[in-house]
Amino acid sequence: MDIEQLKQLQDVDVQIADIFQEKNALEETLRNDEEAFRVAELTVDEFNKNYEQLESEKKAKEAEIQQTTEMIKRWDARLKEAKSGREYQAFMREINGAKRDISEIENAVLKIMEELDKIDSTRNDEKHKIEEIGQRLQQTAEQSKTRISLLAKRIQELEVQKNAIAKNITPSMLSMYEQIKKQRQTAIVGVKKSICQGCHVNIPPQLFNEVIMNSKIILCPHCQRILYYVEDTAVEEQKPKRNKKAV
Ligand SMILES: [Zn+2]
Repeated sequence: MDIEQLKQLQDVDVQIADIFQEKNALEETLRNDEEAFRVAELTVDEFNKNYEQLESEKKAKEAEIQQTTEMIKRWDARLKEAKSGREYQAFMREINGAKRDISEIENAVLKIMEELDKIDSTRNDEKHKIEEIGQRLQQTAEQSKTRISLLAKRIQELEVQKNAIAKNITPSMLSMYEQIKKQRQTAIVGVKKSICQGCHVNIPPQLFNEVIMNSKIILCPHCQRILYYVEDTAVEEQKPKRNKKAV
């Protein structure tokens, strides 16, 4: 009778679904960590570039200060040799202008230094993040990958098992099963005390008798799942559930 084979098939399908769920969750965590690691690295790269650029701006400004300071020295020397009050005034103007330039450049340098400090501290935060994620990845990635490949192998084994069971089932039954599974997740459910364990609706007595007879495939008139009879005395819980089996 197909129903027994279908029950076995469903059992394997539930196992496969559970394993897929675990595998997907592991893969997602791994992907997220790797992505976060990559993003943090890119952010640090970006900070490094900004830092370098500002540092070279700072160096250029410092060189400018030095050049202007030397210029002032030269004017200072010429100031002492000034031949007239007018010449003296002219040198003084140049010197004062250069001094103002220097103080402006010095202010700009200070601003750059503040900016550099800010970048450095944010960059350190990102570096800590990289370290943290890196450590986590190091601790768990290998374990996760091993587990994922074990789960993938187990799925393959179960698929083989499923195909072997499916061979014993009439193709039309099989496609009916797949169809119901697609819509309702659980395709085959027990009927206990004439109640469908899939939708918990009462099965009419005539139909319930046919389920007990187990001579043909009976669908629940309410949820359209394939029904099988479960004795009242059965202790086993028959409502559709995911039986977590050890992999
Ligand atoms: Zn039902």
